[in-house]
Amino acid sequence: MIYQVEVTLDPQDLYDADLLKRKICSKAGIDLSTVASYHIERRSVDARKRPTYLLLVSVYTKSDKRISEPLIRDTYNRVENAEEILIIGAGPAGYFAALKCLELGYRPIVIERGKDARSRRRDLRAIQQFGIVNPDSNYCFGEGGAGTYSDGKLYTRSKKRGNVKSILRVLVEHGADPDILVDAHPHIGSNRLPDIITAIRQTIEDFGGQVLFNHRVTDFEIQQHQIKKVITSQGSLTARKVILATGHSARDIYYLLEQKEILIEAKDFALGVRVEHPQSLIDKIQYGQQSRHQNLPASAYRLACTLNHRGVFSFCMCPGGLIVPAATAPGEIVVNGMSLSRRDSPFANSGMVASVGVGDALKHGYKGSMACLQFQQKVEQRMFESGDGSQKAPAQRLKDFINSINSKELPPTSYIPGIFSQRLDQLLPRDIYEHLKRAFVFFGEKMPEFITNDAIVVGVESRTSAPVRIPRDSTTMMHPKIIGLYPCGEGAGYAGELSQPRSMANK
Ligand SMILES: Cc1cc2nc3c(=O)[nH]c(=O)nc-3n(C[C@H](O)[C@H](O)[C@H](O)COP(=O)(O)OP(=O)(O)OC[C@H]3O[C@@H](n4cnc5c(N)ncnc54)[C@H](O)[C@@H]3O)c2cc1C
Repeated sequence: MIYQVEVTLDPQDLYDADLLKRKICSKAGIDLSTVASYHIERRSVDARKRPTYLLLVSVYTKSDKRISEPLIRDTYNRVENAEEILIIGAGPAGYFAALKCLELGYRPIVIERGKDARSRRRDLRAIQQFGIVNPDSNYCFGEGGAGTYSDGKLYTRSKKRGNVKSILRVLVEHGADPDILVDAHPHIGSNRLPDIITAIRQTIEDFGGQVLFNHRVTDFEIQQHQIKKVITSQGSLTARKVILATGHSARDIYYLLEQKEILIEAKDFALGVRVEHPQSLIDKIQYGQQSRHQNLPASAYRLACTLNHRGVFSFCMCPGGLIVPAATAPGEIVVNGMSLSRRDSPFANSGMVASVGVGDALKHGYKGSMACLQFQQKVEQRMFESGDGSQKAPAQRLKDFINSINSKELPPTSYIPGIFSQRLDQLLPRDIYEHLKRAFVFFGEKMPEFITNDAIVVGVESRTSAPVRIPRDSTTMMHPKIIGLYPCGEGAGYAGELSQPRSMANK
């Protein structure tokens, strides 16, 4: 007989196997001598009173047989001689599409503008240390896309989801810690992701697929509404089926589609700042303790409200993390957040963004399908122009932001290129600033210690989701006007942001 029981453990007892077994037996009402093995199915922290671990455990008695799941890799086919599918973009969407091709018996050829995961590192250093942004190799472009040096949070509150477990299993088969199958808030960390991404490429190649780096797609050849060729910086490739997975930052692709009169449409997105607190303060607020036990993870928060029909919410919160420069072209400042697997930096950062509708972009004078993209780009450029031409980002202390005053000096930050004091209300669109400010005041009523001048806000958090949608038929998943073109991933404008919360409160 298999029992499934819920057990609570204090953080200091997390690795006490004997205590866990005793608790399991007492919950299941069985004798210790009958237990053959147990398996933790789910692990979460309940911080509502004092922080406690909640474990969902399957218990196997000696008469049970535990059946282990077959490897996903065993479902892949050798595809050397199979029909080819071109996949543009080696981000998470592109690589998982390639694995799906192996499963279905197609030969994926992945075309990527950037470099392999390891070679990207040099370009990231150039952004961090010298403020030089390579438009083909940066925090968003290159093998693994924006996912490689991302935070690696693997959970979603989106209700629109596929088989999340199978995605996690693919990651484990390629080197991720099996804990991600168990944790309620699985997280990989930017230090571990590059090797996992490299191993996924190895699988694609082992089964007969191909990955072409340093191939920027510059054009498509289309005849009678059917895609025929993909033109790259290194020559052209014949194509009958093309998966377009270039992400939400490939502005040149959106412009190319517009110029070729391939149907695209402006789409709502979100805009705001990244807020950074000392991690110890967030731990104190969330765990109610001066110092966090070593077995507890750096604590996170999630905040959301609706003000005058505009949502304001925390986005991609990175406990124990770093703010990183995520611009994809010279002349713009964009910030995002990541963390290492141990989440041990002394800072906690999160995007804090307000939703931007197509109507907002039109009101600001932008037109057509690129209205939201241009609105987004303008704000990023304004942030850059306020600085010294490097990737130093404009910043303010949080209370000073709320009160629209210049910060005399700024506290330490995790953002390596550096920050400079600048009133962000002078750079953000007025209505966005006003909503952020009111939301902070509202969050401060719920969590007074959150509003402190020990925290800073840094501009600008603008790449939360695509500002353009590339339409596709919901059944065939193909573009409604171009036969053989399959928009996919975040750049298509259908993906929900993985950590966007449900509304916590309305005002
Ligand atoms: C710092 C940071 C932290 C993040 N943290 C998280 C997180 O914790 N959890 C989470 O779920 N999400 C996170 N994200 C977001 C996540 O990375 C994206 O949602 C995800 O990468 C989108 O996948 P994608 O494949 O659709 O697009 P992308 O990852 O953007 O990949 C697109 C790929 O297409 C390539 N490409 C673009 N144009 C061309 C062209 N013309 N020719 C050829 N190739 C091209 C790019 O180089 C890139 O490799 C983070 C992002 C960043 C930047």
